[in-house]
Amino acid sequence: MESKPLLRSLVPDQLAGLIKDAGLPAYRADQLADWLFARGVFSWEEMTNLPKAWRENLAERFDLAALDTVERQVSGDGTRKFLFRLRDGATVESVIIPMDEHVTFCISTQVGCAMACRFCATARGGLVRNLEAGEILEQVLRLRSDTLTNPVEGLGDRQFNVVYMGMGEPLDNWPAVTDSLTCMMDPKGLAMSRRRIQISTSGPGEGLKKMVEAEPGVGLTISLGGSTDAERKAVMPVPGRTPIREVLDLVVQYVRRTGRRATVAWVLIAGQTDDPEQAARLARLLRGKPLKVNLIPMNPLDDAKLLPPDENGIRAFRRVLTDAGIDTFIRISGGRDIAAACGQLRRRHLQS
Ligand code: SAH
Repeated sequence: MESKPLLRSLVPDQLAGLIKDAGLPAYRADQLADWLFARGVFSWEEMTNLPKAWRENLAERFDLAALDTVERQVSGDGTRKFLFRLRDGATVESVIIPMDEHVTFCISTQVGCAMACRFCATARGGLVRNLEAGEILEQVLRLRSDTLTNPVEGLGDRQFNVVYMGMGEPLDNWPAVTDSLTCMMDPKGLAMSRRRIQISTSGPGEGLKKMVEAEPGVGLTISLGGSTDAERKAVMPVPGRTPIREVLDLVVQYVRRTGRRATVAWVLIAGQTDDPEQAARLARLLRGKPLKVNLIPMNPLDDAKLLPPDENGIRAFRRVLTDAGIDTFIRISGGRDIAAACGQLRRRHLQS
């Protein structure tokens, strides 16, 4: 069946335009936005305060839902992993990660990815397509609904954070990502504080420039993966085309504009990105910049070719950075027992 435009791909202002064009009073736009975002419903019938004829008219022109849950897995550490099927049959992953003070929703922006990072499961199949804004947003709504039905222990109805850290390169799909951000932050959308949102990027130059110009105010994490351009290119061939200095300049510009410290993510791969000399060079690159470092020990893929360093190796790398005065944290990805890390659930489905 041919799919219709997704109503939630429209930002609240566009919805207001739609209502106006239909000759309906403006308060109807607020009611519609309330159903779509604040309540996040997935059936037209639930929109009880909207005239039935108008609901039917909308249903003829727009789709209200784009995601179908194919799989939901809960890890021993509380991580919940979802595989969603989209209207064209493609699949994407999203994850709920319980943290100490809140839950974090990790969402995808593309089916597949064109960045070809050697350590990443999503990269393996290349880019299939961009997600629409409504498909990005719906992941948040589905995850929110899951935490309302099955509250995360100890966190009650505490607010959630959103990280664009799932499948795909957010800055390679900037228009849809911006619209999804608008829907999340708009008072008539999810009314989220920008402080609760984080975009993680491998840092393709063009995309990074667009983000610095647009200055959405959300947090920025830049995946580096090398302390020289050659090193970076070896593990991250596409984003590696942009020189590290240029990448870091853009990140610092972004930090200056938003007043919010950014994060450098560094995947630790044994024998490739775990040399203390790389840590020393990284420390020199970052000295005096408003950046902190998250070290992510490699989560092995199914071929187990790239592995994380052992505990000592991880600690030694970190020590070089902390000794140089750089705030450095070790981030172990959750849900290993359910293949929650980095595009692995989808890969297993594609192969079976
Ligand atoms: N394309 C974006 C978002 C997706 S990747 C980006 O590059 O940031 C999100 C994070 O997961 C990145 O920091 C990336 O370096 C890391 N990552 C990807 N595959 C990994 C793996 N197999 N093990 C550990 N970290 C991984």
